[in-house]
Amino acid sequence: MRSYTKVDKLRIAQTNKYNVFGCLLREGPINRAAIAKRTDLSVPTIMAITGELLEKGAVRSLGKGESSAGKPPEMLEAVPEAFYVAGVDLGRTAVRLVVNNAAAREVLCYTEATGDPFPEDVFIARLEKLIRSRLAALGGAGDRVLGAGVAMPGLIESGTGRVLISPDFGWKDVPLQENLGGKLPFRVLVRNSNHALALNESSRRGDEYKATFCVNLGYGIGAALVVGEELYSGAGGTSGELGHSVVEKNGPLCKCGNSGCLESVASGEAIARQASTVVAHHGRSKMAELCGGDPSKLDAGMVFQAAEAGDRGAQKIIAAAADYIGMGLSTAVNVLDPDRVILCGGLMKNGPSFLDMIRSGMEDHIMPRSDRKLEVTAGTLEEFSTAQGACRALMNVLWAERALPI
Ligand SMILES: [Zn+2]
Repeated sequence: MRSYTKVDKLRIAQTNKYNVFGCLLREGPINRAAIAKRTDLSVPTIMAITGELLEKGAVRSLGKGESSAGKPPEMLEAVPEAFYVAGVDLGRTAVRLVVNNAAAREVLCYTEATGDPFPEDVFIARLEKLIRSRLAALGGAGDRVLGAGVAMPGLIESGTGRVLISPDFGWKDVPLQENLGGKLPFRVLVRNSNHALALNESSRRGDEYKATFCVNLGYGIGAALVVGEELYSGAGGTSGELGHSVVEKNGPLCKCGNSGCLESVASGEAIARQASTVVAHHGRSKMAELCGGDPSKLDAGMVFQAAEAGDRGAQKIIAAAADYIGMGLSTAVNVLDPDRVILCGGLMKNGPSFLDMIRSGMEDHIMPRSDRKLEVTAGTLEEFSTAQGACRALMNVLWAERALPI
């Protein structure tokens, strides 16, 4: 029984320290009495914890603050440069890297083309070089990086960070977390891209929502559910494959091997494919003009542009895609009952009318419920949102494991 007591004491002391550090991060500069009030701990406990944090360089003193009566109290704040975390977004077209300081402020962001992801070990070695060279550019701060969260499209095995299958990359059974982690001098954590994106997007807009369903509408389609502040990743870590739910029996063949998946009829890639068929068969149109007459050069952005300019063929393709997305979303909403849906990804950059079309597609297919409180909104659409989510995923793990240098 005695050892239990000791373990519990240690755990409580750790929790208290993390609560104090969290309070300093969120609310600093702040004095000790105010921290005691916020964390519900005694002033002597706060004295001991802040003493330890000061000694470790995680917290610094800003001198005396102001006081209406009596001695002015010493103001403290968390040291933003105490440590850093990196986040990497492995997209099929671009690799994006961000580095955040302890206060979650971005100190570096970088993009380069993904290029050929084969052979996998050559690509992983390139990734290691990229991360090392960018962190070296940070000078001494690079040595205080605790780890890198890596976001990757596809099915990622929970815990091991093994890429079970990534149709976008054409990868199968690649131990990315183990291989990259073995090459770098710090922790590597691999997560699904949509999970990372959802973590970042859901945290950016207040905490009054109970369940957020975040959808990534881009070259592919993926999603993730965040309950409160916790990501729901499923029993095996592969939840959220909305893009591979079948919405059209005997529909087009999907990259996953099935037919008629949402992704095969409504993703950016599907929109471009449908448009190129139209252009190949029907001569002159705005779409044909935009691609210079070469259907293989069409992308989803051009189809949106043509639709905007009044091209009826383009408008039909966009309307059908929005309806299919509405159909897929209504199934998700019927099953999961979120109070917020955030729509992110490249397709959402094509103006507010696409959002309205998706909303109306959802209304057509969703189970009627008069008291439903559901907000359907566009995401931040920031380029580094997924990389920021990868940072956040790593920070969550380091925080939960009490693995911060404090
Ligand atoms: Zn599929």
